[in-house]
Amino acid sequence: MGDGSGDRTRVVIVGCGFGGIEVASELRKRSGSHDKGLDITLVDRRARFEYQAALPEILSGKVTPEEISADLYSFARRINAEYINAEVVDIDFEDRVVQVQTRTVYRNGINDDGTIGYDYLVLAVGGEQAFFGIHRAEELSHCINTIEGALETREALEDAMAVAREGGGGTVNIAVIGAGLSGVEVAGELAEWIREAHPRVRARVYLVELMPRVLPAFPTPNIASFVTRRLMEKGVKILTGMGVEEVRDRELLLSGEHRLPYDILIWTAGLRPARLLEQLSLPKERGWIRVDPYLRVEGMQDVFAVGDNAYFEYEGLRSGQNVEEAEREGRTAAVNILRAASGYELRRYQPKNTVQNPRAIISLGGGTAVMYLGGKVYTLFAYKLKKFIEHRYMRRFRI
Ligand SMILES: Cc1cc2nc3c(=O)[nH]c(=O)nc-3n(C[C@H](O)[C@H](O)[C@H](O)COP(=O)(O)OP(=O)(O)OC[C@H]3O[C@@H](n4cnc5c(N)ncnc54)[C@H](O)[C@@H]3O)c2cc1C
Repeated sequence: MGDGSGDRTRVVIVGCGFGGIEVASELRKRSGSHDKGLDITLVDRRARFEYQAALPEILSGKVTPEEISADLYSFARRINAEYINAEVVDIDFEDRVVQVQTRTVYRNGINDDGTIGYDYLVLAVGGEQAFFGIHRAEELSHCINTIEGALETREALEDAMAVAREGGGGTVNIAVIGAGLSGVEVAGELAEWIREAHPRVRARVYLVELMPRVLPAFPTPNIASFVTRRLMEKGVKILTGMGVEEVRDRELLLSGEHRLPYDILIWTAGLRPARLLEQLSLPKERGWIRVDPYLRVEGMQDVFAVGDNAYFEYEGLRSGQNVEEAEREGRTAAVNILRAASGYELRRYQPKNTVQNPRAIISLGGGTAVMYLGGKVYTLFAYKLKKFIEHRYMRRFRI
């Protein structure tokens, strides 16, 4: 046993996003409050869980960081688990130890050599913003995929607005790169925020997309036409079929030798695997961890992967990188860990929100949203449903 205590089983979950949280919750739910010999350890470099799907609304101030985040230590305590605030830097799969680096003085659960032993390991470290090696893109862009990033972006936006207001002139150009789900949401939020909070400032939102239409990952064009229309009505300038070739100070060089001046650049295009995965020699598909039909890392009995960092493909269906899949995979992985520990046959995972048939609720700013389900577009109650899902999810941390 990884913890050296013989008859107990220690499950270590690396990453406390949607996937990791679900694994821990489901493990404890199924093992009961009297732990049944199961020790659960959660590890994350962040001290708080972040509800990423609501991050675009930080920009418009519709949600506060407190509303969409939660203390991981308290969550772990409530489910009778251990939480370690540390960055995982390596994993030895043969010796079954996770190597961590931590700045906190609280080192319970970590061995003297900076390792944590496990019997079962779950990898749920998600992805990071990709910049595709475009010159100076990372250096000059704002990113909104963390609360910290979203707050910094908001501050930069407020500063730019203040300069324009006090200077009494000039247009504030905001370029949003990538018209996937988050790019579209950011553009919609910003257009509404400008209208409501800064009606006297001249500001323009550009949404730049390499592919010929917005939301290119959605298989039917109806959602793209609907969203394009709505965003244009809000004043967003949509530039499709234009890739960013170079990022300069206050100017983008786009394909076809187009130039776009900008004051604020927000990058939402592309997701790359979390950096930790580069360290790990595991079976991968373009950097993402390949898992078998039971969500075990291919060829391994005691290591599972869930959420964005897992590449699951079975019978022609591939899991999408979204909250629904992270949660559903998390639940199946928990069931399979308990079954494996008891010597039972594992359950196959069935993806639902797939690359081939995605579903999503996309907010478009100003308390409106659109739902894409079964290839169709719905608007009625879409925003209310999105907020209901968010509130219900965050409630688990508040009890
Ligand atoms: C702006 C934005 C809007 C989105 N909107 C939607 C939406 O509306 N609907 C939807 O379904 N999906 C949406 N998504 C995608 C969704 O958030 C992801 O699919 C989901 O978060 C994946 O969950 P996960 O658990 O795999 O990873 P994450 O939630 O990314 O969690 C990974 C965790 O691992 C931790 N970690 C990473 N590396 C290490 C390390 N080395 N050591 C320790 N900890 C580490 C991180 O700190 C993080 O807490 C959005 C994403 C973004 C960025």
